[in-house]
Amino acid sequence: MSDRPGHKNQVRYSGRAVSRGFAVGQIVSLYGERRQFFRVSIPESSVQGEIRRLQSAISTAKHQIQRLIRSDSSGLNAIAEGILDTHLLVLEDHTFLSKLEHSIEHDLVNAEWAVKSVTDSYLIQYRSLDNSNIRERAADILDIAERIRSALGGRRRSPMRLPPDSVLAAKEIRPSTMIEFGENRPIAIVTEHGGWTSHAYILARELDIPAVTGLRKILRHLRNGDRIIVDGYRGEVVLNPTAETEREYRSRQPKPPTIKRSSSEPPEPARTLDGHLIRLTSNLDSVNGLSVAKRMGACGIGLFRSEFLIGQYGRYPTEAQQFDAYSSLVAASDGETVNIRTFDIGVGQISGRHEDRERNPALGLRGIRLSLSFEHEFVKQIRALLRASAIGPLNIVLPMVGDLDEVHSVRGLIAKVAESLKEKDVPIGEPKVGIMIEVPGAAILADDLCSVADFFCLGTNDLIQYLLAADRDNENVAGWYQTLHPAVLRTVSDVIAAGKRGNRPVSICGEMAGSPFYVPLLVGMGAEELSMNANSLPEVRRVIGSIAFEEAQALASRVLKLASAKEIETQIREQHHDKWSHLFPGNS
Ligand code: PEP
Ligand code: MG
Repeated sequence: MSDRPGHKNQVRYSGRAVSRGFAVGQIVSLYGERRQFFRVSIPESSVQGEIRRLQSAISTAKHQIQRLIRSDSSGLNAIAEGILDTHLLVLEDHTFLSKLEHSIEHDLVNAEWAVKSVTDSYLIQYRSLDNSNIRERAADILDIAERIRSALGGRRRSPMRLPPDSVLAAKEIRPSTMIEFGENRPIAIVTEHGGWTSHAYILARELDIPAVTGLRKILRHLRNGDRIIVDGYRGEVVLNPTAETEREYRSRQPKPPTIKRSSSEPPEPARTLDGHLIRLTSNLDSVNGLSVAKRMGACGIGLFRSEFLIGQYGRYPTEAQQFDAYSSLVAASDGETVNIRTFDIGVGQISGRHEDRERNPALGLRGIRLSLSFEHEFVKQIRALLRASAIGPLNIVLPMVGDLDEVHSVRGLIAKVAESLKEKDVPIGEPKVGIMIEVPGAAILADDLCSVADFFCLGTNDLIQYLLAADRDNENVAGWYQTLHPAVLRTVSDVIAAGKRGNRPVSICGEMAGSPFYVPLLVGMGAEELSMNANSLPEVRRVIGSIAFEEAQALASRVLKLASAKEIETQIREQHHDKWSHLFPGNS
């Protein structure tokens, strides 16, 4: 602690490290649910443009509500219609609108912030009143604020420019927020909620942004502009650090490993001490990530999460935009295969209608279910994929598959689209069709699915959450989300074995595959392809190169007989201590 005058007290907090690295910067707090935002100061010259942005968002919000009221299919009852009428009245209220514009003009802030400060002042008034009818209007105001801010997100010119050295602080961070920043990235992230396999942290690791999560209730202690150290190795943050603490932290940070490889060398599989080959590929969340994957020696792209494009464009990308992205990936991959997964999102992420938000999106209309329900969009994606497959080796991966019928339906659609492209002499390739194994039902049917899928991508991130009924993004059940749970390991092992029996390659592509701690176990269970965040490739390659396949197999067969995650972890740590202490010094 420091009591120097003018220096706020230094406070340390412990959480969980979810993306390695170290950073010192200034806090920028994020607000909002569907679309996150922060306070941006704008110059006077931008005021009129910002007001126009606001007006256009208000008119979009009004149209959305009018459409909802008009649509017969929404089946609105009188109460719901009354609520929407109220929302419309607020959006047309001159006092409300002029307060918003006044805030932009006089406080010189972005429209998002103006919406927050004006609606906050309404909320304070309503909540202080004794009248329960008026207090209930607070919920309407929150809803309206959220709707306007979502509409503001549709305008690409939003001033989401972070000041230099920004450390984002949020309850949790949405992957779309990360995508929206583009190249203008934060230097670190601290959050109260979110797990290792949350998409936002998968992205943070890909972008090399240190992140610490599980910092319960930390937001109430943070102010915009506060200085903070983020230690993404130990899962610690230090708020208002003294100069001495900063020096001490900087001096103990590990040096990043040097990558000796030159990008002109062809990538090679990793090889265990006894010569067993493991193909290492990269997961990608953006087209830009390909250059890092190549530099790190990826033997192709094991999983491209195409839904990144929806985040980038704020809506379904057109066929031309998709073709552009897929073909540039394939063209730049030097003949290595690119597995492109069709959009894996939930219905709430695309419709822009609050009413489509599902109570439990992870179990809802998501992944292949959504694609099959919105066939015209799916056909556009299939067309773009087939056309890009004419340029080089491209495979299609289907997310959230639960049974054989879904794969039959998609194959039927692909055949139909291929036929119509051929009729028009559009060049197409013959992509293989693989499936994510991430729904327990699919894992159980793995032997049967070999008859309809060309290969499997084993998605441990979702598989764990569905097998153990523990939301991968929910801090409250982080202790139940156990990668080493015996049910998880036995399922992973069974799927690998089913792939071998059916002569179908199995690539492990959940975060587990990029963790040096779990890699020997996966190798021992027979995994022959691991697909991971590009930044993990050198370390995983090093670990594989320093273990013997036989030892890994022996470890796997011991561990697969155990019935508790704790016992399994102890076994692995003992093995690390006895045989591989040079590889895992921290675990000894
Ligand atoms: C998985 O579920 O393991 C996976 C790789 O897909 P995602 O993380 O995108 O859900
Ligand atoms: Mg998944």
